[in-house]
Amino acid sequence: MNHLVPIVGNTQWYSPTAAPDVLARHALATSAISSSHFPTTPSQPLTDGFARRLNYLRLSITDFCNFRCEYCLPNGYQGKPPQNELSVTEIATLVRGFAQVGTKKVRITGGEPSIRRDVVDIIKAIKQTQGIETVAMTSNGYKLGKHLADWKKAGLDQINISIDSFDAPTFHKMTGFDMLPQLLKDMDTLLETTDIKLKINSILMAETAFENLMSAIDYVKDRPVTYRFIEFMQTSDNRDLFFAQHAHSDIITDYLLKHGWQTLKRGSSDGPAIEYGHPDYQGRIGMIAPYAAHFCDSCNRLRVSSQGKVHLCLFDQGNYDIRKHLQQDDVAGLVNTLHSFMPIKPAHHQLHDSNSGIMHNLSLIGG
Ligand code: SAM
Ligand code: SF4
Repeated sequence: MNHLVPIVGNTQWYSPTAAPDVLARHALATSAISSSHFPTTPSQPLTDGFARRLNYLRLSITDFCNFRCEYCLPNGYQGKPPQNELSVTEIATLVRGFAQVGTKKVRITGGEPSIRRDVVDIIKAIKQTQGIETVAMTSNGYKLGKHLADWKKAGLDQINISIDSFDAPTFHKMTGFDMLPQLLKDMDTLLETTDIKLKINSILMAETAFENLMSAIDYVKDRPVTYRFIEFMQTSDNRDLFFAQHAHSDIITDYLLKHGWQTLKRGSSDGPAIEYGHPDYQGRIGMIAPYAAHFCDSCNRLRVSSQGKVHLCLFDQGNYDIRKHLQQDDVAGLVNTLHSFMPIKPAHHQLHDSNSGIMHNLSLIGG
């Protein structure tokens, strides 16, 4: 997958054939953070060593989750409730820094972000940041009905709800929660009473793929909703299930193309999903296929954990602590540090080698 070529000026860090080893990258970043010896111009948009513009921040606000999705946290969240999560003030500083380097969209994720009591204040703080155009959230929907109006008022623009099955017993089995009918009702309320843009995420598994596709096609017939399959990604915690259930995205896309659905043109700021539309359907079906060739070529994102660590790739071998900037309200320092990461953002993940780096499961940083 070495198709990305480093841009001139960064070749001292990367070559297309010889990626530096992980320790060297970490040493490089650490020295960059402490000495700030990379010449940077604050406010210059973030562009990595492969000329990818990074204008999208995915921010995990908690590791905690109440669900027990069989591919993510089959035994539920383990350990003590998380402590020392980023405060609203720290998040406000973080987002000001990201906005200065060209971030336009922030997605709040987790764990389960809606579990945090101050999620409304977090949405508000992000929405009020100059330069941020879109505030989105990815959620299991557990609190959707209860808090929809508050989220709307706070400025939430988009929400992605995870629905792994439209069959109530299967949903219960996959998530540990018997709440599909309520969730579907809450989603209809959202569509009827707000202009929040709704998307549905669903993991692509061999066992449920066809049934989910049929139900999704029904669902989007009269609803302006995009239903996206996400190809099952292997992590160190889900190996057995992955080998039993991983299915190739073709099983969905071949069906769509044979049945009158057409690939839609992608906008420059669109995410990694390829979307399909049909003249008789209001909504769309999408596919996120991280195992597909060139998937990472259009990467436009950075991730920050609820403890204030930057993940340059979802499946990187390490992360980078930026919390001191947030604690000190040091936006200028943060901007410099973000620029210093640009030469070391990896070209692509290593999932094809069954290497998910430090990501034991996706609840740590939100998929
Ligand atoms: N709790 C929220 C939720 O479920 O929407 C946000 C966090 S969750 C980790 C974000 C998305 O990642 C969900 O749509 C989930 O289905 C997806 N996900 C989790 N583990 C995955 C895996 N191994 N492969 C593909 N998608 C995964
Ligand atoms: Fe929780 Fe989301 Fe993981 Fe399910 S996918 S266990 S809802 S973090």
